[in-house]
Amino acid sequence: MPYTYDLLNNILKADEAELPLDNLEQNLIGACSKCNADVISISYHLQDDKTVVAARCSACGRMYAILYNKYWIWLGEHSLQEAESSARQGPDAPDTVDEGNTKPSEELLALQAIPLKKLETVFTQAEIKTLFAKASGKKYVRQYLYRARKKYPELREIFDIYLNI
Ligand SMILES: [Zn+2]
Repeated sequence: MPYTYDLLNNILKADEAELPLDNLEQNLIGACSKCNADVISISYHLQDDKTVVAARCSACGRMYAILYNKYWIWLGEHSLQEAESSARQGPDAPDTVDEGNTKPSEELLALQAIPLKKLETVFTQAEIKTLFAKASGKKYVRQYLYRARKKYPELREIFDIYLNI
């Protein structure tokens, strides 16, 4: 069963069916099968009597859909593909965010001027997408914005970059 994930809106789909969101907890889930770094949960979803955890490797960004039964017994894992909708709005394609007739905001221009590598040093992928979404006036996950804001001092300390989003 193919699983896809919209990082921006935290929508997990199994075979095109959206699985209801249970919570947005970030927990250490395990080790990445590709690079062995920590895999952290992004969100928890319900599928029948199972829980499907959307998780992401903190180093290489590989995403997983990890299945548990109602007793939290591990049932298996699938690779998780990033859904189209968030890919289009993500930092990988910043030229699509101003597709409307409004000019990009100052915040967005400031954000786009920062090399992605620097952002990735401080923020998670979800937080970066949230920052781009907020700066573009799009829907974003409030929780991620709060988390990202808490890291602004770190960004300032390491790269001398000031964000105000
Ligand atoms: Zn990895």
